[in-house]
Amino acid sequence: MFDLKALYQEVIVDHNRHPRNCHRMNDATRRAEGYNPLCGDRLTVYLKLEQGKIVDVSFEGTGCAISVASASLMTEYLKGKTEAEAWTVFEHFHELVTGAAEQEQVDLGKLSVLAGVREYPSRVKCATLCWHTLNSALRGETAPVSTE
Ligand code: ZN
Repeated sequence: MFDLKALYQEVIVDHNRHPRNCHRMNDATRRAEGYNPLCGDRLTVYLKLEQGKIVDVSFEGTGCAISVASASLMTEYLKGKTEAEAWTVFEHFHELVTGAAEQEQVDLGKLSVLAGVREYPSRVKCATLCWHTLNSALRGETAPVSTE
């Protein structure tokens, strides 16, 4: 078992208890669904894109603290970013939580609180589910994403 205290830092607890941008978006231009069968996390990510810019992003769903906190942090981070920036952040975030990068290559802000999940491989999928779902939404794919 992993040590919850080491992992659930203050920011994660806060974003799990009070998720930001956690609502359905009726005027979304893209949406995608993601599922992590290992943990049971389910998310829908909504995007409103205008001329290559993410003018609004939200999510809804149910899942463990990590998956919800990660989605909340992701939406907060992405608002106002361009599509190209979102791709770059996805790559760097993925490297951060899988341990592929020794150090942060770019400043990921609050997203870096999730770096601790790299010690717990099963939790990596919880943290990256929202990002894979975002990917799918950016690509305009309609099939639900599964981490398996
Ligand atoms: Zn989970």
